[in-house]
Amino acid sequence: MKDKNKLELSTALWKYGKDWVYSITYDEALSDLYKYVIPTHDRLGIPGHVEVVSGHIGKIRNLGASSFNGMKHMDRDELLDVMSRGWGVGCHSWSHVMVMQNPERELLQAKKELERVIGRRVTIYTAPGNNHNLTPEVINKAKEYGYIAGMSITDDLNYPDAGDLFWINRVPLHERMSDVYHSTFDAYRRIHQARKYKGWIIDYAHCPLEKAVHDYKDCTDEHHRERLETVVDEGKYDCWFANPDDVVDYRYLRKHAKIIECPGTWGKYKIIIEGLPEQVICREMTFVLKCAYTPEALIISVDGKIVSAFPAGGLSIQGSCICFTAPVKDGSEIVIRRKADRE
Ligand SMILES: [Zn+2]
Repeated sequence: MKDKNKLELSTALWKYGKDWVYSITYDEALSDLYKYVIPTHDRLGIPGHVEVVSGHIGKIRNLGASSFNGMKHMDRDELLDVMSRGWGVGCHSWSHVMVMQNPERELLQAKKELERVIGRRVTIYTAPGNNHNLTPEVINKAKEYGYIAGMSITDDLNYPDAGDLFWINRVPLHERMSDVYHSTFDAYRRIHQARKYKGWIIDYAHCPLEKAVHDYKDCTDEHHRERLETVVDEGKYDCWFANPDDVVDYRYLRKHAKIIECPGTWGKYKIIIEGLPEQVICREMTFVLKCAYTPEALIISVDGKIVSAFPAGGLSIQGSCICFTAPVKDGSEIVIRRKADRE
């Protein structure tokens, strides 16, 4: 009898108790994403993320020898439109040069202008060009200017407890690799690895069209569609399809939130949050409750508000686990009661 009443409350590795995470980003935020990419996202219910060159919002690209010259950057209405579809927005510098030439313009002014245009805080810096724009000096400046994460172009999985959110890896969703290593397209890339290590895949593309504008910077729209359909097929039960802004927020929240059991009171807990960056916008936490009860036998409330509880969604925490998601703050109270006790 004593065992039946045992509760174990913890924070979930990923939101909604999912086992792994999938995101995709589009550098340069080009209007032509409306041709194929956005309809595919809408159909499959996956949010995207655009990396905006702030000095080029609404303009035709004309940047040195860029492969995307002549194409239009999204304007304010288009950025607001993709945000209304659940997409996120990152800052890809002011003018796509080496940012340490003028960090105040490329990192700070770029962020402020983008925030003014979209009316929302921007927390992710996406290095333009290559990782030379993500040196320790650049990262220090980015931190000073209020970013809380940085995206690289390193092809790797992001592990769930990787210490540094200023070096987020991205998987090139390209027709082939550049320079000495050549490759062909693989729609299953890193999915098995993400599942095994409960990691976060972020695909990286520019603007997939009928033909890749540059085959080592993009894939075709057909391959893009194939990739997203494969991820949905493989991950429909255990993957969180997420806007990277939300994943970064969740990682910070999970790191800084602690659950304290209130002694002497069954089912009562307090949340302590210390040192959470104020830039974190989404403060919804998923909790995993290991217990012998089914969701309908319990009433769970967070700060006095009853929350919906579900059997855990991911494949790794199945069994007698219940998940619930709620906004939390420092000092939040979680109360778990048995329905039978109340009635
Ligand atoms: Zn770029």
